[in-house]
Amino acid sequence: MTNRQFDVVVIGGGPGGYVAAIRAAQLGFATACIEAESYADPKGEVRLGGTCLNVGCIPSKALLRSAELYEEAGRAFGMHGIGVSGLQIDVATMMRRKDNIVTQLTGGIRGLFKKNKVTLLAGRGSFAGRENELWQIAVAGRDGAGAVVDARHVIVATGSVARQLPGIPVDNATICDNAGALALGAVPQRLGVIGAGVIGLELGSVWQRLGAAVTVLEALPDFLPAADPEIAREARKLLTRKPGLRIHLGVKIAAVSQGKSGVAIDYEMGDEVLRLECDKLIVAVGRVPFTQGLNAAAVGLAIDAGGRIEVDAQCRTPLENVWAVGDAVRGPMLAHKAAEEGVMVAELIAGQAGHVNYAAIPWVIYTHPEIAWVGKTETQLRNEGASYRVGQAPFLANGRALGQGEADGFVKMLACARTDRILGVHILGANASELIAAAVAALEFGASAEDVARICHAHPTLSEAIHEAALAVDKRALHC
Ligand code: FAD
Ligand code: NAD
Repeated sequence: MTNRQFDVVVIGGGPGGYVAAIRAAQLGFATACIEAESYADPKGEVRLGGTCLNVGCIPSKALLRSAELYEEAGRAFGMHGIGVSGLQIDVATMMRRKDNIVTQLTGGIRGLFKKNKVTLLAGRGSFAGRENELWQIAVAGRDGAGAVVDARHVIVATGSVARQLPGIPVDNATICDNAGALALGAVPQRLGVIGAGVIGLELGSVWQRLGAAVTVLEALPDFLPAADPEIAREARKLLTRKPGLRIHLGVKIAAVSQGKSGVAIDYEMGDEVLRLECDKLIVAVGRVPFTQGLNAAAVGLAIDAGGRIEVDAQCRTPLENVWAVGDAVRGPMLAHKAAEEGVMVAELIAGQAGHVNYAAIPWVIYTHPEIAWVGKTETQLRNEGASYRVGQAPFLANGRALGQGEADGFVKMLACARTDRILGVHILGANASELIAAAVAALEFGASAEDVARICHAHPTLSEAIHEAALAVDKRALHC
């Protein structure tokens, strides 16, 4: 019996994989996408969307919104003259809403596969061999059944999983990784979080807004070292001003023990030996690429010391017609980066000039206020010995921000001192996640600060702060 043959087989149905599959099919290739996980699907069916849709970006933002509304009703409604009494949160309803959004979106991708004629193969994909210029890919179903398909091109998009710490067993009941932290049944009174990275801050925020006393323990001495230092400093100040959120830096976890009443974390901070007792603990200490079970070694697919599949700037592995994208390869672990790589690879397979501009990938941290940036930080420019000018505009001088009661934070623009070309834009403030898109476009088009300064921005909008920051680069801000 001959194997089913495809032009392109994608292993993994997350944002890297499903987008690559749709784009490949749009370009006329017979395409299949293999996905193994059903996540929490009530029918046990395989779900598309990967970490992002099932246990990452989407459920976390759904919960952040619920928690934001709850916090607003308690904290901010009063200043508008709106009285609320008997405020309460029904966690089960909040979780149901989040689950429905996830179901809607993952089902939507199934629909997109149908529309674009992408074949979904449910099971775990692995390399089985190579014959006549075709790769043989085994698909092992959970029922033990297996099949082998032939592929001219293979795109590996197997994503990442939460990094575990030795001696801290995650059970997703009391000690949680991202999946457990997105599915708690009740608001814990005391929540511990190990890791003040993106997940620690976002998921810590969800439960802090709902009333938990949250303590975040971070190993590094600096807060958010990847962000611009001024933004990180101000963000830390604003976040820890909130009741119920403490962030301890420079911490060394000594031991974690589980008892009847929760978890105890013994840690060192400076010369002190301390103990944190909490009801639930979230461990968010980074993610590691997931390549297990691919049979990578047997076919010579190279994995680097960090567990990433080795690829060049265009996501080619050294193996002929084998590509890899997303969290499984170098670069930031972000859904939009994975998806851009998926599109690039499909277009390169089609002989087109696919590309990803890694210098213009935005970062967003969905805290309150939000943090977003694109391009270089002041630390990076200083380390490079670059000559640059800085323009800064506080939201306090922005009418819309004041009207919204969201005047914390600022926009900071960094531009080349010689050419005025924008090198980085950093935003701490309300809607930073949306505002950053304009800065990404400016960077992509090689805009100067003067270009942005000469663009008419609608009034009153938060985007005027970007305009002001651009004017401030040339020391001619009008409103601050
Ligand atoms: P994944 O999404 O991990 O998908 C890989 C898929 O491959 C999985 O479904 C897995 O089951 C499947 N797979 C693995 N091996 C096999 C195999 N052998 N056979 C078949 N299937 C296989 N990023 C953002 O940009 N914005 C955010 O707001 C954001 N929030 C996040 C919040 C949380 C809590 C977490 C954990 C992550 C968040 N991320 C966010 C990161 C984002 O989820 C990832 O960068 C993104 O999902 C990576 O996409 P991917 O396709 O490379 O991998
Ligand atoms: P992270 O790398 O952002 O942060 C992990 C933190 O844990 C770091 O600050 C690290 O110093 C700290 N840490 C590591 N070991 C520790 C230890 N033993 N004790 C105390 N602290 C320790 O990782 P994350 O928060 O787990 O998120 C993983 C990735 O998922 C992110 O890097 C990002 O790529 C992606 N993500 C993105 C978003 C977003 O775009 N908004 C949201 C969530 C996750």
